[in-house]
Amino acid sequence: MLKKYWLIIVAVVVLVAAFVGGLVYFSSKPAAIAGMNPLNVLYQHKTIPVVVEKEIKTALSFYPELIETPIDFVLDPHTSKSIMLSQPVISSFLRGQHNRTYVVKINPRFATTHNSIPIQNVPHDILIGWFGHELGHIKDYTTRSNTNMALFGLKYVCSDKFLMQAEQNADTYAVNHGLGDYIIKTKNFILNNSDIPPEYKARIRRLYPSPQQIVDLVEKMKHPAHEHDH
Ligand SMILES: [Zn+2]
Repeated sequence: MLKKYWLIIVAVVVLVAAFVGGLVYFSSKPAAIAGMNPLNVLYQHKTIPVVVEKEIKTALSFYPELIETPIDFVLDPHTSKSIMLSQPVISSFLRGQHNRTYVVKINPRFATTHNSIPIQNVPHDILIGWFGHELGHIKDYTTRSNTNMALFGLKYVCSDKFLMQAEQNADTYAVNHGLGDYIIKTKNFILNNSDIPPEYKARIRRLYPSPQQIVDLVEKMKHPAHEHDH
């Protein structure tokens, strides 16, 4: 009689162990496949070209609040006068301010004075600064209503003064997210590079904050003016 009870207890223990073991085994597997690695959590809702994957992911890691924001980074040779261009997707406006999709167009070739180089050959830190600046634009866009965003687009193409303000906003967001050193490196790379066409350098000098202005922004962020300062 006693032997029979022991058999039942052992059988129950074995069954419970098998059930728990199976549950842990099968439940952990799909979670790992779904990218539950915390390193991947930042890259939800994003399209990222493989050639500049590392740099985009590094820049994204400075903007954890953009986790849920759909952003498609696409290689596109039509980036107007810029190397990169960030825009909201018009058709996504119907979903409202908080569900808009954004595109970062990346020219696959970086024009030099006599030639051009593939974008992935631009140094690592310079690209991180560049993507950090573009994500600054997107961060800025996420704070705007649909109407404000539409007016923004109109003013951006019509007014140099407005464009300068938009570029300053993007750099300020990037600095406040900890990308100041990368932004300074990117600007110096463009402005002090004899291989970069002089017209492009002149445009950057005229319309974008200077490296010194970014140094000042970084200083201001590190030592914010005290409320009771006189
Ligand atoms: Zn910009």
